[in-house]
Amino acid sequence: MSTILIVEDETTLAETIRYNLEREGYSVLIASDGVQGLEQARREQPDLIVLDIMLPRLDGFSVCRILRQESDVPIMMLTARQDEVDRIAGLELGADDYISKPFSLGEFLARVRAIMRRSERQPRAGGREVLEAGALRVDTSSRRAWSESRELTLPQKEFDLLTCLVRNRGIALSRDLLLERVWGLDFIGDSRTVDVHIRWLREKIEPEPAHPRYIQTVRGVGYRFEAPEQ
Ligand code: CA
Repeated sequence: MSTILIVEDETTLAETIRYNLEREGYSVLIASDGVQGLEQARREQPDLIVLDIMLPRLDGFSVCRILRQESDVPIMMLTARQDEVDRIAGLELGADDYISKPFSLGEFLARVRAIMRRSERQPRAGGREVLEAGALRVDTSSRRAWSESRELTLPQKEFDLLTCLVRNRGIALSRDLLLERVWGLDFIGDSRTVDVHIRWLREKIEPEPAHPRYIQTVRGVGYRFEAPEQ
């Protein structure tokens, strides 16, 4: 049975979601603040986390950022704020989906089913995850990557950078965010590190490194990964 962890401090909403998910056959856990959510996520290894943004003790963005450094568990963010900035920030931090409050239960359950189907096709946590984009294939479990049928030789950071870009395809990622995700929070360096690694990566994955098709430069921001049509 799949387990879903709900991190939400509004008890009524959390209980309503729990009731409906249990009726669908999921096993449901509830955490009412960010710290508890993080602890339960680590301890119970749920198959999906439904994460509110405004939470006591530790906000949902922080929980998402921390969890992403530890696991690939699917995360659906709940936001009370409608603005696009929240959505982008959530996705940049590695959330898989988001839904704005108030939402209909029908829509919520449909999203949950879609995420669960996706993660069954692409088993994560401990399983095999193969990301495909254009002619590229990245197997995150064996840490191997191919372009067409040619295997690429990628040092650790270039591999991590490519994985991060492909997972967030279509989204502009800032240099700072890439630094944090690939090199870690305590890395002492500057954003040129990212540029240098992007250059090396382009030389390996781009048919024409001077005219990149996969890794686009987003002026003033950073980079965005696109999967070109085959
Ligand atoms: Ca809340």
